[in-house]
Amino acid sequence: MAKQRQPHTPTAQPAEAPQRPALQEVSQFLLLEREVELDHRPRMLEALQNKVNAVADSLPDQTPACSRCRQPMKRHDIESVSWEARFGRLHASVARYRCPGCKDERRPLLDLLGVEPGRISGSLARLLALLAVVAPYTLAAQLAGLLLGVKISPMGVWKVVQRLGESAARYGEGMSQYHADSRSEGASTREAPPAVVLSVDGSMLGMQVRQQRRRRQGRETLPPLPPVEEGHFQEVKTGVLLLPGERVETSPGRHSVVRRFLVSCLGNADDIFGHLYAQLRELGWLDTANTVVVIVGDGAEWIWNRTKMFVRRCEILDFWHALEHAWGFAQLLYGEGSQQADRWVHQIAEDLRAGKVQEVIARLQRMRPKTPELREKLQGLIPYYSEHVGRMQYDEYLRLGYGIGSGAVESAHKQVVHARFRQAGMRWSKAGARRLLALRLLLLNDHWALLDRLPMVAVA
Ligand SMILES: [Zn+2]
Repeated sequence: MAKQRQPHTPTAQPAEAPQRPALQEVSQFLLLEREVELDHRPRMLEALQNKVNAVADSLPDQTPACSRCRQPMKRHDIESVSWEARFGRLHASVARYRCPGCKDERRPLLDLLGVEPGRISGSLARLLALLAVVAPYTLAAQLAGLLLGVKISPMGVWKVVQRLGESAARYGEGMSQYHADSRSEGASTREAPPAVVLSVDGSMLGMQVRQQRRRRQGRETLPPLPPVEEGHFQEVKTGVLLLPGERVETSPGRHSVVRRFLVSCLGNADDIFGHLYAQLRELGWLDTANTVVVIVGDGAEWIWNRTKMFVRRCEILDFWHALEHAWGFAQLLYGEGSQQADRWVHQIAEDLRAGKVQEVIARLQRMRPKTPELREKLQGLIPYYSEHVGRMQYDEYLRLGYGIGSGAVESAHKQVVHARFRQAGMRWSKAGARRLLALRLLLLNDHWALLDRLPMVAVA
């Protein structure tokens, strides 16, 4: 019941004119901080330029070999290049070599430094990608100005994300391919846990209808995009890996985990399971002979079709999905929001938790609903439970500490996907979503440092 509000009594107008809320002077300390930063920026740039020059001077005057034909290349010319970095623009004169046969080109100094002429490189690129991983591109560009003092357009941030994201996505996919081969080497499984919980979830992303990005001609504004049509969605799947022993109850009924590893991709069921398997191997969490892989899923067929890849496994039908089906029937039987429906479902929940799934099914089978609609609903519920009996031994799972719900993956999926990819009006190209997703996972899995060891790749 809404609280009754007191009637609003207008206050008497004071005699004096209204005063704007006061602002204080910018504090002395804040001014000092800014002054030092502004003052040192050019000095940092200069110091960095000196270091780059020193590397250039120390470069041996050696003719590089062609990476394709292995023949020595020929010195072509000296090129003057520059690139954008954290403290400003750096310059260098670099020798360019060419292979007469293959026409391949190399610039040993740039290869050594790991920069691309004309582009944003180094730590600035990584920081911009970091901002874009947490905020939409326009906001990321704004944050770059406020946090880093770097002026950049949203398109500039987008470009950086494409080049680093492509690299991160290829690395993840490469890892998945590597572990798909039985000759691959995973981390040591000497400390492999007795059980690992794996759960998966999916949701849809609105995709761009156009294959090509729209380009603005001059100053005209682009017309708004049409609403996403049916069929222009793509499923993003997320998987979570965690150890049941690391699940802690933070407050009654609320659990959180100390560690969890997230895997996500725009792909089919085989792709997500390939990624999960690779991650298990990289973590050393899968000792095939001893580790029980506990798979929690909803009724979705694609999940259960792939769990056979784990020799020792325990399949669990998400408890809440199981109850949801009972709810649907109870509301039809007793009326939405009725106490009777509540009580009926509560009893089912109690019985399922106690491992009495067979009794629940028998009880449902004895029911004689009066309307065809109710009969139909019941005829859906009974086979759903019967089909998953082996995955509904909830008393056993609770006793073993495996948990019975897929809450972990649902919240993870929201964190990975919804929080960044499903904001109002967002539309994604397949390539753009794949790249940003790969970067977002690095951050959420606390692997961001890996990006230092991945190259920026040219993308079309
Ligand atoms: Zn060659």
